[in-house]
Amino acid sequence: MAQTAKAPRENRTITVDFQDPSTYLQLIHDGKAFVEFVFAFLLSLGFQLHHKSTCQGGGLTRHSHYARVRLGGLTIWRIQCTSCKAVFTVLPHFVLRYRRMSPDVARQAPIATHGGLSLEWCATIFNISTMSLYRLICALGQHSLVTVLVKCHLPLPAYILADEKHSKCLTERVYLPTIVSGRVIWHLGYSDAKSAVAFTESYGQFQRAALEYEPSYRVQGALIDGFDSTTKSMRTLFPGARLGYCLRHALNKLPDKLVGLAAPIRKGLRSKFHALLHRCRQRKSLRVVSLGQRLRRFVDHVTVTVGKEHSERVGNWIQDKKPGWYAVLEDPKMPAMSTALDQAHNAIDRKLFNMKGFHHEGGSQAAFLTGLAHLYNLIPYQRRAKNAGLCGVEVEGGRVPTSDWMINLQILTSGGYRYAPELPHH
Ligand SMILES: [Zn+2]
Repeated sequence: MAQTAKAPRENRTITVDFQDPSTYLQLIHDGKAFVEFVFAFLLSLGFQLHHKSTCQGGGLTRHSHYARVRLGGLTIWRIQCTSCKAVFTVLPHFVLRYRRMSPDVARQAPIATHGGLSLEWCATIFNISTMSLYRLICALGQHSLVTVLVKCHLPLPAYILADEKHSKCLTERVYLPTIVSGRVIWHLGYSDAKSAVAFTESYGQFQRAALEYEPSYRVQGALIDGFDSTTKSMRTLFPGARLGYCLRHALNKLPDKLVGLAAPIRKGLRSKFHALLHRCRQRKSLRVVSLGQRLRRFVDHVTVTVGKEHSERVGNWIQDKKPGWYAVLEDPKMPAMSTALDQAHNAIDRKLFNMKGFHHEGGSQAAFLTGLAHLYNLIPYQRRAKNAGLCGVEVEGGRVPTSDWMINLQILTSGGYRYAPELPHH
């Protein structure tokens, strides 16, 4: 089964929002006006065109050659850089690259699977083949999450949540190493092994993509659940980063350390432990000193209430996990709980369950998952949600090109655009 996405072919397509098809149909008769419209659109996005690496001209060239071709009955313009000869195909927003499916249909189907309909039902309702929807998502997934998120002006995350979702592919157990920051998925990988080497390889893809944009990029802190392979892969990739353990995870693990005790007693100790962590987090200073004292007192309390045997087990566990909790409390900017990551995993899990296409032989799981993550980041929250009308990228302070998420997805996954940092150009 293919585990890695195929190397994306050099595609210099650019999707341009002409707002109305009639505007486009007028402009295609006037080459000069057309090119000017495209350049104005580029300027409004703040993107550059992806010229060949040898190109000195870069940026916008008003001396572009342009040519018209026909695509399924529609006239499409190509513009060429006079200096490096790179050719850019200008796709109007109402056409999907290489696909007969209209963006309007493509817009409905993922939204419906989002709401819980199976891929098969969506395909039936919207009169498209299941496979074409699957391929559409894979095509989106050819573009890395980092590339798209950076184009939305999101800074690379200094603090991350990292964890692996367990999933099934046919009958095999697979792992989806994931990096989340707030409401945005920065990495959604695919691995059939749970070794440190496998996770390092997967998380390393995120690191490589990030360093391409910002060679000085460093992760300041990562919140993990303390699983050995995750810890090792984080230490290998981000040697200077603070590694914290999720506090809510700790709370949920405590009752396991109190085996054989009656439920009310375990519950009581859990809520005492909860109050302890909560008070430490509320303190503005000396949080770590306070945690050490409180943990010792908690172990004493366990000894008194349920005996030495239990308190030793709890004590050893605390000893083992304590450094990860300290790491969370030492830095106020460290995330303390992996709730946002769990929510992302649940959302992706629902889609995988609904999209049986995931299980098809010979498909690219990596590309499919990345495509799903793009949808997670860019589809706005539904009407009743807390951030209704905004997508995850916007909730995190990013900017999207238009108010239409499907057009945003088309523009942001266009191979012809390059993100231009906030520098004056030309
Ligand atoms: Zn050029």
